[in-house]
Amino acid sequence: MGTMILKNINKIYPNGVQAVYDFNMEIDEGEFIVLVGPSGCGKSTTLRMIAGLEEITSGLFEIDQVMINNKAPKDRDIAMVFQNYALYSHMSVYHNMAFSLVLRKENSDKIHERVMWAADVLGLTPYLNRRPAHLSGGQRQRVALGRAIVRNPKIFLLDEPLSNLDAKLRGSMRKELKTLHNRLGKTMIYVTHDQIEALTLADRIVIMNEGYIQQIGTPYEVYHDPSNLFVANFIGTPPMNSFTTTLTTNGELIIGKNKVDIKAHKDYNKLVDKGYLGKEIIIGIRPEHINVEKTEDINQTMISTIDLYELYGADALIHFKIDEKNVIAKTKDVENKHPKDLITYSFDVDYIYFFDKETEMRIDG
Ligand code: ADP
Repeated sequence: MGTMILKNINKIYPNGVQAVYDFNMEIDEGEFIVLVGPSGCGKSTTLRMIAGLEEITSGLFEIDQVMINNKAPKDRDIAMVFQNYALYSHMSVYHNMAFSLVLRKENSDKIHERVMWAADVLGLTPYLNRRPAHLSGGQRQRVALGRAIVRNPKIFLLDEPLSNLDAKLRGSMRKELKTLHNRLGKTMIYVTHDQIEALTLADRIVIMNEGYIQQIGTPYEVYHDPSNLFVANFIGTPPMNSFTTTLTTNGELIIGKNKVDIKAHKDYNKLVDKGYLGKEIIIGIRPEHINVEKTEDINQTMISTIDLYELYGADALIHFKIDEKNVIAKTKDVENKHPKDLITYSFDVDYIYFFDKETEMRIDG
């Protein structure tokens, strides 16, 4: 139970702002879906329409083949966890978790059983008598999750639930959430602006921008197979390098003072078929697919100097310029590189992505 269909969903607020355009998606029971995108892209609005906190302007929303559009939030069998977990400060952890069941007039044995179960799942058993003020941030967030799971809903909605926590705690809560999801097997829809959270948590990611879905895919797909330049730049840290260049009629890209032959690339035939030879095109390449070597030979063609060198331990980022454009390479060879060093660079040609200069859509085979 918990299969959802969202068909041609639009949201126009009373002031005329259209926050969501034509949202289409089917979500299977038990999936962990993450909606991700920059601030204002419409992800909270989408979540709030699913919760029933915002009206759906047009479109169809079904859960298990029942139309939900006009059902009140309390009749949707959905529980929501917010960023500001809004615990009742005068109540103990136990009573915070029991509260929604008390409101629903559940029998007290059942309430006790559900709260003790949730406390056990979330590691909160030792803290049941504490007030929220005497808990750490992570523990409070667990109580907020506990309030949702005691109700045993079909679907969980989570709106930036970890963003009030510090980086270290966020990392450990991510693991807990993933474990919780595996244990409960319930559909979860999670909103965040943080693409790392999206990549690490999701079964499938929905990337949104300006109210439109940009791509839906597994973390692997959106990273390795972005459908447009927005997704390519949004997913991955540091982002994919991208710049406009010319594809010659001989099947070579002009990069710096050099020409890079791409005739063996898997997408080359598509570029030819679609008439991109001799045209300007946007190319993208991830930092891990640019190779950088120190050199002393100033006569090489693909040459630059290091602007900035950032060591992250096992790997390092090298910032440099190609034709005045800032580029970042990631290297595992972390020794002996310094700003102002002369370098040669090369691309792993198979890993170049091609985008239309006007539409910014991927041109792939
Ligand atoms: P996100 O969660 O991705 O940051 P939102 O869904 O909150 O984005 O907002 C999407 C767009 O809708 C934004 O342009 C925002 O200003 C607008 N918006 C959000 N809530 C309202 C509202 N109650 N009335 C009018 N416009 C709104």
